[in-house]
Amino acid sequence: MSHIDIEAAVNVGYQAAKATSGGQNANYIPFLASVPSDLLGVAVVTTSGEVFKVGDADYQFAIESISKVFTLALVMEAIGPVAVREKIGADPTGLPFNSVIALELHNGKPLSPLVNAGAIATASLVPGNDADAIWAAIKDAQSRFAGRTIALSPDVNSSEQATNFHNRAIAWLLYSAGACYSDPMQAVDVYTRQCSTLVSTIDLAMMGATLASGGVNPVTGTRVIKAANVAPILAEMMMEGLYTASGDWAYTVGLPGKSGVGGGILAVVPGKLAIAAFSPPLDPVGNSVRGQVAVAKVAEQLGLNLFRPA
Ligand code: GLU
Repeated sequence: MSHIDIEAAVNVGYQAAKATSGGQNANYIPFLASVPSDLLGVAVVTTSGEVFKVGDADYQFAIESISKVFTLALVMEAIGPVAVREKIGADPTGLPFNSVIALELHNGKPLSPLVNAGAIATASLVPGNDADAIWAAIKDAQSRFAGRTIALSPDVNSSEQATNFHNRAIAWLLYSAGACYSDPMQAVDVYTRQCSTLVSTIDLAMMGATLASGGVNPVTGTRVIKAANVAPILAEMMMEGLYTASGDWAYTVGLPGKSGVGGGILAVVPGKLAIAAFSPPLDPVGNSVRGQVAVAKVAEQLGLNLFRPA
């Protein structure tokens, strides 16, 4: 895979996405409804730290659900993969990301750290004495993955904190089942903040490239997590990374991914690179319409489906 191949693939992915229409910005979070719908960015970062980008790849948007991957990484480091699987789980729920029914069906066990219930449980497991200490650790983890200081957007955060009643209900349900390991409102507060940071498409690709290179940021050279913790994170992404379309994504693209309702989407190719895209309009499942097209096209152009070795 040469430099020229990757550059061409990123352009093909961008053009394919640009020719695609449909979807709607998330509107249950007021801030997200106001982001310009026509923004489109695509980026690839390789495990040797090369960056390829096209379109609005520098535009900063709300990370939302993609943050779940990086808080999971922090908790994976703190308690290890065995405890993560036991306390949270490693299976798809088959239900929407904010489902309450999923909890009811499994005695309060969230099944996946990549749905809201599991992500709130994950946030409750981050070591720290209070919400600010825990938040500082999460923000630091996002920053080390990205190789630059990631910051909270006060606008996104206040928009979410003012409307996150459903997530608060989920946290109390978790707590009543013994599956929330801190004060439940503290866990939701921290979770809401982690969703409210701003990243660019390039940041996302860099964060993914850190996973692709076994836990070392390819540009800063910093080891962010243990190599042994990368595979279970990617497994969680493969199982539940694209909401209820995770199976379709595995079937068609064959890469661990994660999307967010801010319009971001990330896919990781272990040992090689990460592909990211950003476009706010979502399909009914919650995945970026154009983002999925862009990432899938780049992966296809470069022959990166893990289930179809070249
Ligand atoms: N902050 C959003 C929520 O909790 C994130 C959802 C997502 O991106 O899937 O609803």
